[in-house]
Amino acid sequence: MTAEALVHSVLDSLAVRSDFPALQQTVRGGKRLVYLDNAATSQKPRAVIDAVQKFYERDNGSVHRGVYELSERATAVYEGARKKIARFLNAKDAREIVLLRGTSEAINLVAYTYGRKNVRAGDEILITEMEHHSNIVPWQMLCEATGAVLKVAPITDAGEVDLQAFEKLLSAKTKIVSAVYVSNSLGTVNPIAQMSALAHAAGAVMIVDGAQAAPHFLVDVQAIGADFFAFSPHKMYGPSGIGALYGRYELLDAMPPFLGGGHMISNVTFAKTTYAKPPAKFEAGTPNMEGAAGLAAAIDYVQALGIDAIDAHEQLLLKYATDALAKVAGLRIIGTAARKVGVVSFVLDGVHPHDVGSILDRHGVCVRAGHHCTQPVMERFKVPATTRASFGVYNTMEDVDALVEGLAAVRKVFS
Ligand code: PLP
Repeated sequence: MTAEALVHSVLDSLAVRSDFPALQQTVRGGKRLVYLDNAATSQKPRAVIDAVQKFYERDNGSVHRGVYELSERATAVYEGARKKIARFLNAKDAREIVLLRGTSEAINLVAYTYGRKNVRAGDEILITEMEHHSNIVPWQMLCEATGAVLKVAPITDAGEVDLQAFEKLLSAKTKIVSAVYVSNSLGTVNPIAQMSALAHAAGAVMIVDGAQAAPHFLVDVQAIGADFFAFSPHKMYGPSGIGALYGRYELLDAMPPFLGGGHMISNVTFAKTTYAKPPAKFEAGTPNMEGAAGLAAAIDYVQALGIDAIDAHEQLLLKYATDALAKVAGLRIIGTAARKVGVVSFVLDGVHPHDVGSILDRHGVCVRAGHHCTQPVMERFKVPATTRASFGVYNTMEDVDALVEGLAAVRKVFS
């Protein structure tokens, strides 16, 4: 079987592509749109767009509050999405799913509430060198507020966590370990269950930044030993502005609230307010109901394609792209871990990644150029930035070929 035939045997990406209205357009004067920026955000299938529209057309009403039919329907949509996420991530209970804006807000919530309650001066928080800024800055803010110390586990030249160094940095002082499951700039899939086990053996809680994991392979928060797990559905064909935090119920229950306001209370008087139980305790204000409708549709969409088929499809594209890019003169791939998702970051000798991105754009190829909100990774590999191609369900080998042809055009401009 040819590689092309093999790709089509696991996922019919051309049929899948037709599900996405945005991908039917041409750009830059008639060029076929080649969308390779899925690690930043994915395009949305018709089913997700329709679910959001249907919510507005039929079900919009005051969630959790009303006594009328529309309000009941809005509540059913919203709480139905929570149950769907719980099943998708294999949480024990839907009450362990807090709906909020996305991974950044989820990590900030844990740092602000769990962190301020449980971390003291001299305690340590361990992260890795490959974290997104969303999993660095909230911990620095917590350290500033409490006098705790941030420790960073180094990564190897391949872009893998140095597990021996990680283990050595753990001690009785470590209260929190927070690590990315999949690196957005390197593509590395971390041995997160092993890291959780080490964190727990040291007595720390384990927070997993799952922003880049859930779109690509089956996630089981219980199997990986996550105490908290953050999720951004806009990277998984769902709407932006909605996301989820999974937290073990006992931990959520013991945490103080994050934002104050409507819905997160049990009783309010001017003398004293008592709080609702989780997850309501962490969901002040009117939430993104239409986003919940779209998010539920996104989960249905990936499950209908089959998460294992998605994984297999992206692995084939990753291999095809890695082999093709290795043949481009002067190109160096940053991030060569043994286990990766479909993310290829690279630098091209003598050409700034922003120029690479701009010239590719003229050919209809959308990639990300920059530090990808992982400046310490750029520093580790001594590059100012990289160009990153990241794959999703609708990408094909033809897309990879367009990328490689675009790079030949970049070479011509800079020769
Ligand atoms: N963590 C990782 C690994 C990411 O790739 C991203 C987004 O690119 C985030 C966190 C932040 O996610 P969001 O912007 O959806 O809050």
